[in-house]
Amino acid sequence: MPVLKLKPACKDYLWGGHRLADEYGVEYDGDILAEAWVLSCHPDGMSVIDNGSYKGKTLREYIDLEGKRVLGRNCRRFREFPILIKFIDAKDNLSIQVHPDNRYALKNEGQYGKTEMWYVMDAGEDACLYYGFKKEITKEEFARRIEQGTLTEVLNAVPVNKGDMLFIESGTIHAIGKDILIAEIQQNSNVTYRVYDYGRVGKDGRKRDLHIEKAIAVTNRVPIVKDNSSYPHVADCDYFTVDKLNMDGSFLKKVEGEVGDASFESILILDGEGVIRTDEEEVEYKKGDSFFLPAGSGKYVLEGRCDALITTIRAKAAPVRIGIDIRGSMTRIGLVDIQYQMLDCLQIETRTDISPEEFLSQICDEALRLLDKHQIGVDQCVGVGVGVPGTVDRKNGIVRYSNNIGWSQVKVADAISARIPVPVLIANDADCAALGESVAGEGKDCQDLVMLRIGTGVGVGVILNGDIFGGRGFGGSELGHMVIMDGGEKCTCGRRGCLEAYASSAGLKRAALEAVSIDMEPGEIFDRAFGGDKVLMRVVETYTRRLGTGIVNMANGFRPQMVILGGELPDNQEWMLDYIRRMLNEECFGREQGDVPELAMSALLDNAGVIGAASLL
Ligand SMILES: [Zn+2]
Ligand SMILES: [Zn+2]
Repeated sequence: MPVLKLKPACKDYLWGGHRLADEYGVEYDGDILAEAWVLSCHPDGMSVIDNGSYKGKTLREYIDLEGKRVLGRNCRRFREFPILIKFIDAKDNLSIQVHPDNRYALKNEGQYGKTEMWYVMDAGEDACLYYGFKKEITKEEFARRIEQGTLTEVLNAVPVNKGDMLFIESGTIHAIGKDILIAEIQQNSNVTYRVYDYGRVGKDGRKRDLHIEKAIAVTNRVPIVKDNSSYPHVADCDYFTVDKLNMDGSFLKKVEGEVGDASFESILILDGEGVIRTDEEEVEYKKGDSFFLPAGSGKYVLEGRCDALITTIRAKAAPVRIGIDIRGSMTRIGLVDIQYQMLDCLQIETRTDISPEEFLSQICDEALRLLDKHQIGVDQCVGVGVGVPGTVDRKNGIVRYSNNIGWSQVKVADAISARIPVPVLIANDADCAALGESVAGEGKDCQDLVMLRIGTGVGVGVILNGDIFGGRGFGGSELGHMVIMDGGEKCTCGRRGCLEAYASSAGLKRAALEAVSIDMEPGEIFDRAFGGDKVLMRVVETYTRRLGTGIVNMANGFRPQMVILGGELPDNQEWMLDYIRRMLNEECFGREQGDVPELAMSALLDNAGVIGAASLL
């Protein structure tokens, strides 16, 4: 894959100078050059490719053409290109400002917040910048000092030299002072709240806007404690990891690197000259150049003499996924960590009296509340997985048809990602439950399993080779609708005699009502049967035998290692298990010679669907 050399987008803000054009070779026709956006997919200024077959295209166009894989799998969690890298030439003082974090910015600005780092490329003798507060101050004092123009008295003024690095977490008040040249690596966002601009006027003769109220809301008013947690990197956070390369050209004149599938690599040349060599090509570099190496491009060699900053994107430190399990009557929403543990979960009624879009919006509110409760930003979230009863187009995130909740052609993934800006994947709810059991539950050691969820309907999920059996394009199988009784009871799907018409809770209730003319819940039916009611015991046995018939059919069809039962099951589960185990032993094709599957109850119970949905990501 190519080594892309990038031409920056240039910005002529009033505080800029001439050094980027004069000393760093930035091509620019104007006079003042304040910022060169050397790695940018931001709509306010894109980098343009300057070599090879993509020459003339923006970096954004290149990514659109080649697909997101060129960014690497660690970037899947970002909706946009994750970072923005700039050279900044501050001839004059920059405004005093603060950036919000993701939570505040996504809520109030509809874009990401901003954490950034500065690498001081050069600084004048008395150069100084502002970085947080000297001492803790109150909101009131902060507001008063902004109004009176005395804020700088309480800011932490830091003298800087060439080679210094500062990490500016969102919420840190800061300003670049005059006579400083900086390489800035930041989240791809342009949200800045200015609190003081030295009373300057812009080219249009007007003062730039200040955003005092918002700044007060997001600013961290305690002094920064320096830590060394990014070691051995220059900077390391969920948004970027930056390393410094010093190759002096004599003692060290060659460095080998490798760009894997996890992340692209940005190489920013601060000084020096030489070549970047790959199997396919050799690209010259010099001071001020910026290169983008696509993920998976493999080994390269950097030769010559250089100071460079190398930026990559690592996996998130504490990834959380949202799992949503929509079922006929109840919907569960949970936060699941990387070990498939449920951090928290809540349950709401599944609403069929409002539109699917309205209900999905309600689900999003609850999910966001859950994140909020645990102080987890949306950006801390790998994505959302959703299990929905019915036929699901997994590729496009659309529920084609669901007889249980009356949905058809509902764009679930679009509706959710419009509210929670992270990747959203969907699958059939029973498939999700089966996946949950296979990654974290009873079937943890199985590659092939079938899981039945008894409830309003009978959902069946099939896992083969550790993955959901997806059918052809559309989600999963509909084994609940296998006919076990020709010409039998009418099913919600339109056929007669489906397993679901007998083995669902509704099927059991109907059978009991017919037998004893009393409308009872499944629990009560089982209780009375085992309490000595002979008529109801026959109902329970017939029910269990029909469920067992369906299970034997599935065992014959898929030859799984295990069949798992879950959902709304009454007590007396051991009795049911024994009954159906006997059927499996006697009726599975080939019997003992035919590898009769194990039969077990769900270990994750109600959490299976949520954990499975989360593990779609
Ligand atoms: Zn800033
Ligand atoms: Zn059916």
